[in-house]
Amino acid sequence: MLYQRSSQLFAEAEKVIPGGVNSPVRAFKGVGGTPIFVKSAKGAYLFDEDGNKLIDYINSWGPMILGHAFEPVVNAVIERAKLGTSFGMPTALETEIAELAVSMVPNIDKIRFVNSGTEACMSAIRLARGFTNRDKIVKFAGCYHGHSDSFLIQAGSGGMTFGTPNSPGVTKGTAKDTLLAKYNDLNSVKELFESNKNEIAAIIIEPVAGNMGCIPPQKGFLEALRMLCDENGTLLIFDEVMTGFRLAKGGAQELFGIKADIVAFGKVIGGGLPVGAFAARNEIMNYLAPLGPVYQAGTLSGNPLAMAAGLEMLKALNSEPAIFERLDQKTAYLEKGIAEKLTANNVKFTINRVGSMISVHFDEASVTDLQSASKGDNETFKKFFHGLLKEGVYIAPSAYETWFITDALSYEDLDFTINAIDKISKEF
Ligand code: PMP
Repeated sequence: MLYQRSSQLFAEAEKVIPGGVNSPVRAFKGVGGTPIFVKSAKGAYLFDEDGNKLIDYINSWGPMILGHAFEPVVNAVIERAKLGTSFGMPTALETEIAELAVSMVPNIDKIRFVNSGTEACMSAIRLARGFTNRDKIVKFAGCYHGHSDSFLIQAGSGGMTFGTPNSPGVTKGTAKDTLLAKYNDLNSVKELFESNKNEIAAIIIEPVAGNMGCIPPQKGFLEALRMLCDENGTLLIFDEVMTGFRLAKGGAQELFGIKADIVAFGKVIGGGLPVGAFAARNEIMNYLAPLGPVYQAGTLSGNPLAMAAGLEMLKALNSEPAIFERLDQKTAYLEKGIAEKLTANNVKFTINRVGSMISVHFDEASVTDLQSASKGDNETFKKFFHGLLKEGVYIAPSAYETWFITDALSYEDLDFTINAIDKISKEF
C-alpha cells in the first residue's frame, strides 16, 4: 500500500501543528514512519487519503464500539445541528441522556457531563478531595487518566513514596500529592496507606488497565482495594473511560460486581463526539457546584450535538444487551486465531484480554503491570505493526495500547486479520 498523500499531508501539518498531530499518540513515534491521514470511515473500515482501505482495531481509541458512521448517531447529530449547536443553557436532551446513563450503570444517582475523559478524571479527583477534605491520591504506574497535572506522574526511583512529574510544567507541589502504587500489587497500596494515614482522598484506577496494553485486575485485587478504601475513609474512583459501556452495559462495576464511589467516563458515552462524564451517589454528587462547594464547570458541557450522539449510542447499547456478548465472542475468536498462528510460527507472545479489550505482547512471561508490560520486544512489535498495515489492518502505533474491538467487525474481517498475522509472523 502506498502512503504518499498521507506523507505529504503530514509534512504540511508539521509546519503548523506541533509534531503534526493534535494528540501525541497519533504520531508513529514508537513504530517509525508517518501517520496515516483518514478521509472517511464506515463500519469496521477506515479509508485513508491515499485510497487505502484498512480494518480498524482502534476505533477512535474506543468510542466506535458499533462501528464508524453509525447511522443513528450520524442522523441525530445532523438533525440536532439544524436546531442550533450550542446554547450554554439547559436542554431536555441532557436530562434524557443522564437518566439513561444512570439507569444503565450501577451505584450512581447523578452524572455530570464534561468534554473529555481528562476532564472527567480531573473533576472526579477534585470532588473526592473536596468530599473527604484530604489532598493525596493513589494512582497506579502505567494507568493513564488524562493529561491533567495530578496524573502525569510516573514511578521514579523514589516513586513508591512521592511521585515525580513526568512532564515539565507539572510542579513538584502537585506531584507530591500523587502517590504511586504498582498495578495488581496490593502491598504497594497498603504501604502507602500506612505511611499516609488519614491523608488519602482517593484511589483512582483503570479497573481493566488499557494504557500499558490490556491488563486485567488479578483475582481479588479490586475487592481488596474496595476494602482498603472502606477501612480508611478513602473513595474508590473507577476510571471507566475505556471500560464504561464497553465491558458491560454497566461497565467494570457490573462485570466484576464491585462498587466504586465515583466513576469517570469518556469515549463510548459520547458516540464519537467530545464527551466525558463523572458520576456518583447523591451524597457525593451533591457536593458539586451549584449545590455544594466543589467548583466544576464548562461552556460547552452538555453540548446538544455531543449529547445527541451519546444518547443514540447508549440507547443502542441499552436496547440490545447481546452486543456485549457478541463483542466478547468476536474478540475471543480473534484471540484464539492469533495465538494459534503465533504459536505455529514460533513467536514468543502473551495475549491479554477482557471482553472486547485485547493486547498482544511479544514476551512469554505474563503481563500484569507496567514493569512486565515494558519487557515486550518492541522490534517485533514494529514488524507486527508495519506488517499488518501493509496487509490493510490498522492497530495502535504503540506496543502499550489495547485494541478496541467493534461490533461492526465480521468474522470474515477477523479471519482476514488472523491470516494476515500468520503471513507476517512467518517473517519475524
Ligand atoms: N482515562 C483513560 C483510562 C483513558 O484511556 C483516557 C484516554 N485514552 C483518558 C482517561 C483521557 O481521556 P481523553 O483523551 O478523552 O481526555
